Order: sequence, then structure tokens, then C-alpha cells
Amino acid sequence: MMSKNSVPVIGVPWDQKSSFMRGCADAPPAIWDAFNCASANTCAENGQDLSRDGRLVYRGNMTLSTGNRVIKEIFRQALAAIRQGATPIFLGGDHAITYPLIAAMAEVHRNLNILHFDAHPDLYDDFEGHKYYHGSPFARIMERGWVQRLVSVGIRTMTPHQQAQADRFGVEIVDMQRFDTSLALAFDGPLYLSLDLDVLDPAFAPGLSHHEPGGLTTRELIRTIQGVDGQIVGADIVEYNPHRDIQNLTAMTAAKLMKEVAAKMG
Ligand code: MN
Ligand code: MN
Repeated sequence: MMSKNSVPVIGVPWDQKSSFMRGCADAPPAIWDAFNCASANTCAENGQDLSRDGRLVYRGNMTLSTGNRVIKEIFRQALAAIRQGATPIFLGGDHAITYPLIAAMAEVHRNLNILHFDAHPDLYDDFEGHKYYHGSPFARIMERGWVQRLVSVGIRTMTPHQQAQADRFGVEIVDMQRFDTSLALAFDGPLYLSLDLDVLDPAFAPGLSHHEPGGLTTRELIRTIQGVDGQIVGADIVEYNPHRDIQNLTAMTAAKLMKEVAAKMG
């Protein structure tokens, strides 16, 4: 039985909507193994031990089939977890999973805000006709009107098309040219955190399909997450590709970020 303050960790092993390279479907158990690795402890930097009292509870992977049915399968399984009153952390998978995850969050939470960390705005209307690929989740989410604010931090691949989409949807872009760690991020109402690990510089996170230089350091990202003012009701950590990693370095980074996000869930 889960205690009231438990944070379920749910794997979403889906990478069929990646445009360049597959592999992040294998990420969730690798991140969980890194969390439990004997080389480190299970405490966040505020001293909270996330292995105690059922605080982080690994639920394993969602059961998913193939094709576009998967979007509904992710939605239903996420909704079941959220309806139990949980504040889940979902481990992707590629960023396409965020569309059905937010669909489920929006069923339960009104006036949802999203804080999105990414090298990429993920606002493409489509990719070669594909509407639900991993470069489009925030276009689909914003079309539905499910969220009051989307703030995207760490962007360094803006295109004219995506800038037009950002303007149309009122997305608040904090690109890398403007980023600094004194950035004050405050949200009224429930907050969902969507963390694409490629927001980090590839020097810090090599285990990713898309290496986009010029990104955040791990410390800058942790400091920004720790400084967020808002009530986090759910989160995802996406795009880790264990097949590109070097000695599980990026898995350890993902696990570290998972601890810091869970510690913020209060
Ligand atoms: Mn992304
Ligand atoms: Mn990205």
C-alpha cells in the first residue's frame, strides 16, 4: 500500500515517435537502477531520503502495445495513477509521451502550468505528416488549451516556424542566450515539470539521441529546479538513450534529477 506522500515512478517505454534514433524505450529500468546504485545514496540535496517510508515507489513499466493506440494506453494508465491522488514521476521514453501524460493531468488539474526544460521547443506542427512525434508534443498540448502557461527553458534550436507557433500559443521561451541561474520561476496553480535531458550540454549528458551543444550544466539545471516556486503535481524525465551513454553517466544524472524533482514535491 502506498503512503499518502508516495511518489510513484512509472516507466513509459515508448520511443516509436523519435525522428532520428531509437533507444530511449530502454531508459526507465536503467534510471531506476542508477537511483539504487551502491555508488551513491538515495538522498536529495536537502537531506530528504527518497528510499525511506515508501517515498519513491517504482511501479515498473506501463504495458504498451504498438502504433497510435499507445497514446490512449499511456493516457489511461497515467490517469489511473493520478486519480489515486498521486504526484507521479514518469520516466520516458521519448518526448512524445508528454502529450498523453498532460492529457491525463488535465483531466484532474485545472489551470495547469508546464515548466519545460529542453534544447528544442518541440512545437512543430508535424514531421513529415506525423502529428504525434517527439518534436510536436507542445503544439498538440497548446492546441487543446489544457494549460494556462507553458514556460520552455534552455531552448537553443529555435526555427522561424516554431517561433511562429510559440507566438501563436503564447509560449514563454527562455532561450540559452538569455538563461542565467538567477532566473525566478514562479507559478500560480498546479505545476507539471517536463524534463528533456537534452537541455543539458552533451558534455554532461552524452546518453541522448540528439546532441545539441551549448546547453546547461548539471549544476545550473539542479539550481533552477531547486529554485522553482510552485506546487509540482507531476513530472516526466524523457529522452535518455542508454545505448548512447558512457558508463551510465547520464543514467546517474537522470536519477539525480529524479531525486531533486521528488524532493520538490514536498
Ligand atoms: Mn523534447
Ligand atoms: Mn530535446
